Amino acid sequence: MNRFFSVSLFFLTGTFTVLAQDTVFARKTLEILYSKKFAVRGYVHHGQERAADWILKEFEKEKPAQVGIQEFNDQVIIFKKNPSLIIDGKKMNLGSEWLPDADAPPLSGNFKVQILDSNFFAHSTQVVGNSILFAPSSIRAKAQNFAQKNQRPLLIYGNQPPLWTVKRSFSKSSALYWKGNFSEPPKDVKVSIHSKIKNHTFQNVWAVLPGKSDSIILISAHYDHLGQCGPVMFPGANDNASGTAMMLDLFHHLSKEYRPYTYVFCAFSGEEAGLLGSSYFVKNPTVSLEKLKFVVNLDLMATGEDGITVVNAHQEKEIYQRMLEINKDVGLPQIAARSNAPNSDHYPFTQAGYRAIFLYAQGPSVKAYHHPDDVPEKVLWKGYHQIFHLIHTLIQ
Ligand SMILES: [Zn+2]
Repeated sequence: MNRFFSVSLFFLTGTFTVLAQDTVFARKTLEILYSKKFAVRGYVHHGQERAADWILKEFEKEKPAQVGIQEFNDQVIIFKKNPSLIIDGKKMNLGSEWLPDADAPPLSGNFKVQILDSNFFAHSTQVVGNSILFAPSSIRAKAQNFAQKNQRPLLIYGNQPPLWTVKRSFSKSSALYWKGNFSEPPKDVKVSIHSKIKNHTFQNVWAVLPGKSDSIILISAHYDHLGQCGPVMFPGANDNASGTAMMLDLFHHLSKEYRPYTYVFCAFSGEEAGLLGSSYFVKNPTVSLEKLKFVVNLDLMATGEDGITVVNAHQEKEIYQRMLEINKDVGLPQIAARSNAPNSDHYPFTQAGYRAIFLYAQGPSVKAYHHPDDVPEKVLWKGYHQIFHLIHTLIQ
């Protein structure tokens, strides 16, 4: 009886604290970051610059001790004009049916199809003039290698929707991904891709909330996304408007509370183009990283119905154990542990010898990853309360 009572009280207390955090701010932030003004936080129409200015203003609302924008230059490939693919006279739908590879150099022309399969590699490796190589996604790496070596364009087909990313330099030849259905291989392919390399100024936005100790806990989230390929938008609602919203939500909360540590908030840019913002920040920190206790990086925060994964958990056992302990109150279904990986902005910190973890939510509600379907309407903020509460307790 006694035991039951104490367990219930514990549960109720936990639930009450969790419910105090709602998703109104996160939803509003997501809508703003998705709005037309920010051009899906990509590399055209000043999308990223405008988003950086908006984040700066959001930080400035709380009058932090230090706040600023850190700029650096790099280059990215953009696809400004509308790329087109016509297969046997039928125009394919950009985004849903096909995409050029993100590092595809410009390509225009009519091509005959040359099929690459195991038979081809077994009997001949001769390419015919003015052809586009045609290969299933099952032999993608081999086909891509061959196409690059022979400097031929390549059309890869498969059932998966094409995945897009951001690249900074061209590959030797263009590869295209086609979610194709056909009874016979196509014969004629007409392609037009006008990609170009753009010099771009990236912005990291940062703010400092000092606390009792000058030991620093740094909370980061990347606000950039893939932008667009021609007219096709990659909204990046879950990746990573959701993490940016969570980071800003934590910032607003901590600005009004007693702070045992000093908190540095970083909205990094250029993550999708190769962890550029965080790499630059680690080499050119705007605060002294000597006092850095640890980094919590947030990416893909809106789908927590199945809990979260902690990247670098095996190396950061103490932090991970503390999260498991906190979760007895919070009640996320799972806190999975994963080894370190170069998959988000925590990584440059760990490579420079700092302590860092990366959290991403895991659940089926947003399936679209690096896809035009990563839209706000699909973001249901499952588990947001619990994840917020978990991080908020961890960093106290
Ligand atoms: Zn991301």
